[in-house]
Amino acid sequence: MNSQKAEKKNIEISIIGSGIAGITTAFHLGRKGYQVNLIDPTLNSEINNLNPKNGTQASLGVLMGNIYKRSKGRAFLLRNKSMTLWKEWLGQINYSETDCILEKPLIKLASSDKEYQSMIELSNNKKKYGIELLDKNSLSYWNSIFETTLIGGLISHEDGRLNPIKLIKSFMHSLDQIRINKIDKSVISISKNNNLLDKSWTINLSNNQSINQDYIVICSALNTGKLLKSLGHEILLEPILGQVIELELKKEMSNWKKWPAILSYQSINFIHHKPNHMLIGATIERCTKPSQLAKQEMLDLKNRAPKWMVNAKTSREWSGIRARPINEPAPLLQHLEPGLLINTGHYRNGVLLAPACAEWIGLQIEGP
Ligand SMILES: Cc1cc2nc3c(=O)[nH]c(=O)nc-3n(C[C@H](O)[C@H](O)[C@H](O)COP(=O)(O)OP(=O)(O)OC[C@H]3O[C@@H](n4cnc5c(N)ncnc54)[C@H](O)[C@@H]3O)c2cc1C
Repeated sequence: MNSQKAEKKNIEISIIGSGIAGITTAFHLGRKGYQVNLIDPTLNSEINNLNPKNGTQASLGVLMGNIYKRSKGRAFLLRNKSMTLWKEWLGQINYSETDCILEKPLIKLASSDKEYQSMIELSNNKKKYGIELLDKNSLSYWNSIFETTLIGGLISHEDGRLNPIKLIKSFMHSLDQIRINKIDKSVISISKNNNLLDKSWTINLSNNQSINQDYIVICSALNTGKLLKSLGHEILLEPILGQVIELELKKEMSNWKKWPAILSYQSINFIHHKPNHMLIGATIERCTKPSQLAKQEMLDLKNRAPKWMVNAKTSREWSGIRARPINEPAPLLQHLEPGLLINTGHYRNGVLLAPACAEWIGLQIEGP
């Protein structure tokens, strides 16, 4: 073992929270050779979207990495980096029982002139990212599916979807292989060691045990503020609901074979994931609990729901909470003080941005 590796082996890092932010951070740091603990009371629970233990399990896993109007700035760089890293990482986490692949492409339909104008701009500026306007034939296909006359749309050949349940299972398996220590307890508090202990931080767990660490990375979504308050850091996050409905369609239409991995229309994602079944999901900003009204709004598609939607029945539904930073852009990537970092506030694109955020944490610990 070279001396740098041996040095890392002596550095202990605890990651609090095992949603996608925590899992990917553990994966990245573990592979770099650090001694990593991943702490979350739900670690041994079933990984499941119908009764999700966190935002990640509830998610649809849509990656809109390329279909993004900016070409510079932090958000653009995180998206860009993540799309590259996802391709690398998927090859490294898959094992025989899972086949988590990036399902492509993504198609977005315009629901207003304004939206279409920005699609035209995007297709002009982002050709090299595999983005182009839909041609006449495709548009008439979507007109027939949605029983309307659409203004236009675009296709992003390299964007798509990762199935979150398969993704989490693959990562959990990889974390075992790289010997990440999983602790299925809640973190009650964290404190700084001002004495001469060689580890700077103490984590107090729900079983009354404490562990001393060199670094703590907090990825605990809405609970982040509570854990940091006693240390004088104010992190403000608010809950935002995401809701998913699975529709069972009356009959399978033969021309549905052209359905892309993701179809996005009126800010709703449509995933035709098995014969006769369509997942539809949206971010609902106004409420924190699943509501009949919000569900109905999604199903009505602003009074434009086609017959196949109107006639379908809901076969399953679930929801999850995301943590949105108040007055700050998401996500919150901060090195609060030596040895204390946060990777949280993943609101809309937590799955998409996870690899780049994990890498950012790695750079803070290791240096560029
Ligand atoms: C319905 C829905 C659809 C979505 N669709 C998409 C999508 O298509 N694409 C996309 O990129 N994103 C999507 N998102 C958003 C995405 O799911 C989130 O951005 C992401 O999952 C947030 O991950 P996280 O790790 O920050 O938080 P979470 O997944 O919520 O994980 C936080 C973890 O912290 C743990 N924790 C909390 N407190 C403590 C404590 N004291 N001690 C130990 N552990 C603790 C919790 O148990 C939890 O497991 C969607 C979300 C929802 C709800």
